[in-house]
Amino acid sequence: MSQEDKFKKVIAHAKEYGFVFQSSEIYDGLSAVYDYGQNGVLLKNNIREYWWKSMVQMHENIVGLDAAIFMQPTTWKASGHVDAFNDPLIDNKDSKKRYRADVLIEDHVEKIRQKIEKEVKKAAKRFGDSFDAEMFKQTNPRVVANQEKIDAINKRFADAFEANDLEEVRNIIIDLGIACPVSGSKNWTEVRQFNLMFGTQMGSVAEGASDLYLRPETAQGIFVNFLNVQKTGRMKIPFGIAQTGKAFRNEIVARQFIFRMREFEQMEMQFFVRPGTEMEWYNTWKETRMKWHQSLGLGDEYYRFHDHEKLAHYANAAADIEFKFPFGFKELEGIHSRTDFDLKQHQEFSGKKLQYFDPEINENYVPYVVETSIGLDRMFLAMFSSALEDETLEDGSTRVVLRLPYVLAPVKAAILPLLKKDGLPEMAREIMKDLQFDFNVQYDEKDAIGKRYRRMDAIGTPLCITVDHQSLEDKTVTIRHRDSMEQQRVKVSELKSIVDGLVNMTNVLKSL
Ligand code: ATP
Repeated sequence: MSQEDKFKKVIAHAKEYGFVFQSSEIYDGLSAVYDYGQNGVLLKNNIREYWWKSMVQMHENIVGLDAAIFMQPTTWKASGHVDAFNDPLIDNKDSKKRYRADVLIEDHVEKIRQKIEKEVKKAAKRFGDSFDAEMFKQTNPRVVANQEKIDAINKRFADAFEANDLEEVRNIIIDLGIACPVSGSKNWTEVRQFNLMFGTQMGSVAEGASDLYLRPETAQGIFVNFLNVQKTGRMKIPFGIAQTGKAFRNEIVARQFIFRMREFEQMEMQFFVRPGTEMEWYNTWKETRMKWHQSLGLGDEYYRFHDHEKLAHYANAAADIEFKFPFGFKELEGIHSRTDFDLKQHQEFSGKKLQYFDPEINENYVPYVVETSIGLDRMFLAMFSSALEDETLEDGSTRVVLRLPYVLAPVKAAILPLLKKDGLPEMAREIMKDLQFDFNVQYDEKDAIGKRYRRMDAIGTPLCITVDHQSLEDKTVTIRHRDSMEQQRVKVSELKSIVDGLVNMTNVLKSL
């Protein structure tokens, strides 16, 4: 199946099984805005909970915050968003399609990178066990030439970006012969900057109203509360403040479903450190966050780091954790060393000191910040798209199964009476009543048992608990496992601890 078909399947499945709907669909929807349905909201909550527990609950020096979406507008002057939160956009004159100039160049580079990967794979097959991929990359002339091409493009783009030279950005696109994916033409407009913030107004009368922005990131709410939290929580550096919440960006090209939305949710943590120690913490957080992703058990091949060549105005080091989405490796999370830029800016614009007295070195300073920032919706897409599988079974039949990590699954167990009579529904409901204190469980008595199993496979339910006639006699039930489809007979009295052992978040948190 092509990448495109696979992705279409993901989107269709998300709708059909109540995970993600287009916003205001009955009015033909709103571009790049989505709603989460009955199963989607549970998966989203579980991802958020896993993030929150691992970041806040498991770290005694990280605390939470829930800042408002609206902020005093000077915040965005100070942070640089009013002047510099722009994307360079370019239009194709023939297709009238609009693109981000940097994304066109990145996609071009990715194609060259894929050529290298292909070459390496081919050679690995040819040479077998003795193959040394690193050595091959350094010595094969074709690979070396392609790598040099990539480095040259990256350097040229980084220089143009640094100098804010939009004409040079356009020249790069022309020189690389990049064509519009829709029209195939190379007939491009100038490159222009486009500010991504949404504006709105507060106040009832037009003259007296003040212009506000919908926050484009959650981070600034943390910076402006730095001293409030540090003082009232008696926090000692190094310490972190974490929050999850909505952010809004008027994205130029909002596409790829919930990958790039105009309203989305972020999970961010700002870690305040002593100046000079930021690189150490930057590396620690890179590692810690990668471990968090890997703990979900998808396999290491889904993740890679991408160290930034071009740095945002506030950063002295930055890397992305990229995930293998159905449309290729793309950013899932960013880890940035933001220096003291934000706190210093807020100090200057507000006229209030944002400093910390460090008793260990007897000094006052503006702390440096290392941040980890992940999109909740993007994490949702990562989990959902990689979990969806069309499986062919031994007997030749097929099933659609959503192999979500157990801890993230919306429904942990389904309770199914084999028949809708003979007291089986009553016993099943009793079991459900007992389990629902601890787990999100679902009762289902409609249709044949096989059909019910398939429905649960399709929403990723790890366990199906079936109540049959033997259950009435000896107080046992069968548990059917989603992935292996194996069934085991267990005592009702042991159910809670069995389910708990399989789906409890504690087990995954312990592996971190
Ligand atoms: P991109 O380069 O993809 O636009 P970014 O580098 O601007 O992303 P950050 O500002 O670092 O992103 O935001 C942190 C995280 O927030 C990203 O890693 C991503 O997971 C998420 N995110 C950013 N923009 C969007 C969006 N429009 N829709 C969904 N998630 C987003």
